[in-house]
Amino acid sequence: MIEEKVKKVLKKIRVNKKEKILIALSGGKDSAVVAQIMKKLGYNIQGIHISLGLGKYSEKCLEVVEKLCGNLEIKCYIYDLKKETGNSMINYFRKNACKNISTCTICGIFKKWILNKKARELKANKIATGHHRDDELQTFLMNIFKGSPQLNSNFGPILENKDKKLIVKIKPLFFISEKEIENYVKKNKIPFVKEICPYRQETYRVEIRKIFEKFSDKEKENMMKNFLELFKKIKKDIQKINYCEICGEPSRNRICKKCSLISSKK
Ligand code: AMP
Ligand code: ZN
Repeated sequence: MIEEKVKKVLKKIRVNKKEKILIALSGGKDSAVVAQIMKKLGYNIQGIHISLGLGKYSEKCLEVVEKLCGNLEIKCYIYDLKKETGNSMINYFRKNACKNISTCTICGIFKKWILNKKARELKANKIATGHHRDDELQTFLMNIFKGSPQLNSNFGPILENKDKKLIVKIKPLFFISEKEIENYVKKNKIPFVKEICPYRQETYRVEIRKIFEKFSDKEKENMMKNFLELFKKIKKDIQKINYCEICGEPSRNRICKKCSLISSKK
């Protein structure tokens, strides 16, 4: 069932079996399922993992990603955050602690920056992530509650290229519930890290998640359809993409988010 749904969405967003797709593997269950299913469906996939340097947790993630890629017989590119950006994630958390940004947001900015840069250097056509339906519903609502509905202009299983230096992102599990993913990993004995990140700071998301727990699966499916309709009405983000004056990567501002985090004074 889940395999059929993923097959359908990949067909709909026209992912070609010859294209080189990098699966962004965190060590968690969601991205592991993307790799397992896309491999089974015959896509040309490779793994990419960023080792975040968050102690034992990160060591475990790396170990699991390597095991998964070994099982699937796919190549896996591993990058170390400190080597790629010059400092450790813990130091970035410290440096930016006085700002109103969560550790998850900081981490997300660095991951996104490395993933896009490396995927481009590796000449990948697309990056696939493990975002699933329940994540996406939460994010949609969070953006509205925070007064930034325009951030939902990217809502959907594919994020098209807005600049030649930006690699297309796809979310093969966009219509799949977390429950279905849990059942699939169990059934297929897929290795994944069960622990949650010890630095996680997602209090707002946790509250939003509770709201959705009250709804049935059918209701959530309908919400997805309605949000997709609503998304069509949201004014598309037509802000020009510049290149960061420090690192040269795509950015909406003069300096990209990642470089602003690095240059923050403690
Ligand atoms: P998160 O931002 O942790 O919710 O993760 C969202 C998606 O980003 C995951 O489903 C993965 O596809 C990808 N991802 C998260 N962490 C990593 C990592 N350390 N290395 C590579 N990809 C990652
Ligand atoms: Zn930059």
